[in-house]
Amino acid sequence: MSEILREAMVAAYQQLQAAGLGTGSSGNLSQRCGGGMLITPTGVGPAELEPSQVVSMSLEGECESGQLLPSSEWHLHAAIYLARPDINAVVHCHSRHATILACTHRPLPAVHYMIAITAMDEIPIAPYATFGTLALAASTAAALGEKGLACLLANHGQVAAGADLSRALRVALEVEELAAIYCGTLAIGGAQVLSPEDMAEVHKGFAHYGQQD
Ligand SMILES: [Zn+2]
Repeated sequence: MSEILREAMVAAYQQLQAAGLGTGSSGNLSQRCGGGMLITPTGVGPAELEPSQVVSMSLEGECESGQLLPSSEWHLHAAIYLARPDINAVVHCHSRHATILACTHRPLPAVHYMIAITAMDEIPIAPYATFGTLALAASTAAALGEKGLACLLANHGQVAAGADLSRALRVALEVEELAAIYCGTLAIGGAQVLSPEDMAEVHKGFAHYGQQD
């Protein structure tokens, strides 16, 4: 089981890179596994990552011996699993347009109906905290709240989550696309943002649609 999950993580990490969302080895992703998680190791880029190098650890930070060091953002991943039993996979990256917005501390409004994939009408900004810290983990979990599946990290990047890895990856790709669209609208005078009523209809449609895959 864990072998299949490890292979899926390598594939997802490479997909993230291929889609242009990763820069160097700056992205990281994880999957809940048993009572703990599997997470990408620090400093190993997608092209070099082997399934056996994916790190198995508890949500409290205990790693089985003989492994590489986990991503420096493991606190952030663990905090999300501890706060949200519905989330089983987390993707973090510094994708360009999401990061541009995050650097302005500007949340991402409902400029396009696909924002419903995040289960919110606006993608919030987690206040700035130093990378790798418990403070950043706490601000990220708080920004996601009870049902959100994405947030921007001030002056840092984005976090996307889902019930499984392919959904979390899909959310990350959509957040970057929405951010690019929003940046484009800001450049030509600003967007007309969808109303809460419009978005309520979209959320209903998404629920009715069931599997968005
Ligand atoms: Zn980061």
